[in-house]
Amino acid sequence: MDYEVIVVGGGPVGMMLAAELALAKVKVCLLERLKETTPYSRALTLHPRSLELFDLRGLKTKLLRIGKPLPTGHFAALDTRLDFSVLDSSSNYTLYISQHDTEKVLEAWAQSVGVEIRRETEVVSVRQDAQGVEVTAFGKNGEAVLTAAYVVGADGAGSLVRKQAGIPFEGTDTTLTAMLGDVVLANPPETNTLSRFTEHGLVMIVPVTDRLHRVVMIDPVRKEVPKEEPVTLEELRSGLQRILGSDLGICEPFWLSRYGNATRQAKRYREGRIFLAGDAAHIHFPAGGQGLNVGLQEAMNLGWKLAAELKGRAPDWLLDSYHSERFPVNTALLRNTQAQTMLMGMEFSPRMMGLRSMLSDLLRIPEANKELAAQLAAFDVRYAPDEEALPHALNGRRFTELKLRLDNGTVLNAYELFHSGCFVLLHLASDDRLNDNVQWAGDGHIRVVRASIAGQEAEWDDVHTALIRPDGHIAWAVPRSEPQPLEAIKQGVVRWCGSRPI
Ligand SMILES: Cc1cc2nc3c(=O)[nH]c(=O)nc-3n(C[C@H](O)[C@H](O)[C@H](O)COP(=O)(O)OP(=O)(O)OC[C@H]3O[C@@H](n4cnc5c(N)ncnc54)[C@H](O)[C@@H]3O)c2cc1C
Repeated sequence: MDYEVIVVGGGPVGMMLAAELALAKVKVCLLERLKETTPYSRALTLHPRSLELFDLRGLKTKLLRIGKPLPTGHFAALDTRLDFSVLDSSSNYTLYISQHDTEKVLEAWAQSVGVEIRRETEVVSVRQDAQGVEVTAFGKNGEAVLTAAYVVGADGAGSLVRKQAGIPFEGTDTTLTAMLGDVVLANPPETNTLSRFTEHGLVMIVPVTDRLHRVVMIDPVRKEVPKEEPVTLEELRSGLQRILGSDLGICEPFWLSRYGNATRQAKRYREGRIFLAGDAAHIHFPAGGQGLNVGLQEAMNLGWKLAAELKGRAPDWLLDSYHSERFPVNTALLRNTQAQTMLMGMEFSPRMMGLRSMLSDLLRIPEANKELAAQLAAFDVRYAPDEEALPHALNGRRFTELKLRLDNGTVLNAYELFHSGCFVLLHLASDDRLNDNVQWAGDGHIRVVRASIAGQEAEWDDVHTALIRPDGHIAWAVPRSEPQPLEAIKQGVVRWCGSRPI
């Protein structure tokens, strides 16, 4: 085998996944057809959970140096914005950052942890048998046939890997298109940003650089134009004129693009030795800026599982849990983007304006606003609790930041413990029955931490010990009331990490 894993596609999801694998000491090669990251950024937003994931790997500060934190975001361009600042996290905001910059940070990270990145290399075929996968690609030096134990298709919406694996992409075709222009506005809106829904259409405007604004538009008279038809400056100009009563001096387009609301999801995220992640696994109308964000969560979910399998310590259910955990999350994502599409683009009538204004009023209720903000932030993601573990409310949940006081007195943010991508076995009970020197077999993939919680965290009051997965979800927590905590801990570590105490 040339590699343990080949990742096809070096967009944000492929880069993140390849880096996660390399961090877990997997020999990984990433194949990307483009010479360099495209300067045309589709995504402009990183949501709170993505920022937490970056924080878990020590990358958040880098992104904060580039992007701009914004406390609010939008749902369906409704007038009442979602308030992320009330969420329980230090990443309680969205980061306004171009996809180009996010990809640059990810690529630098992937390189630094040892991913072999082959750019200008286009994959043309993927085959698998019981032993492994064979990937044929064309690059600067002609054709190459590469072998690996697994391949991951992170090759975007038109995924060749998905097609070659024969995985159905079920859903609906485009019925609506929107337009985007990164342009100069000689007379930008006074507020610099703007969101307006009228009977003449929807327009949203945000600055993208010192010079450029992004104009996003759904124009009722242009919304059935096929996505392949190039956008013209004139289309945007006349739309602005009708919706806003001014064309804002639109000129000098840097990038014009049309995109649609096709909504599809791969029926299976795994076919034997082939996996899918990111847009290769699901597509939807980019409402609320979520596609890239959920793709990063997939990369985090799959990376440590593939690594565990390759290192021979994965339980037999682990690889399939990638599909069973992520598919429902993305079903919910498609539901929310379809709801937003209905509200933003299907009808520009007085009754739609009435519906939008009612929903906008409802979002002024703090609980409703917080609920939706948590959904977009991906803070509501909870994986099915481990049925063999002792029941605990934390099982399967996202691990929130805890301030920990280690036994040596050091106080730290628990996220710092995850920079190397390991499991963290967190003992919080100062239980003498737990031998300080219990070591777990493996190559450092489990980090044992004895600590107490500095501050008030009611949900953790009764936790004796918890195992946190490398992707920042809680595998299980053993309650202090458990008469045999050591047994439960040992069984839980064996079940999840494939390691026995030595
Ligand atoms: C207008 C618009 C705005 C958006 N805004 C947001 C936002 O604010 N927030 C958000 O989260 N998401 C947003 N999205 C969605 C986001 O851009 C995508 O979800 C994200 O790019 C998916 O990342 P990916 O790595 O899965 O796929 P891609 O970014 O599509 O990357 C796939 C990569 O694979 C490569 N590739 C493809 N085929 C091959 C092959 N055969 N061989 C080798 N390489 C190949 C491609 O060159 C590409 O680099 C937006 C989308 C649009 C259209």
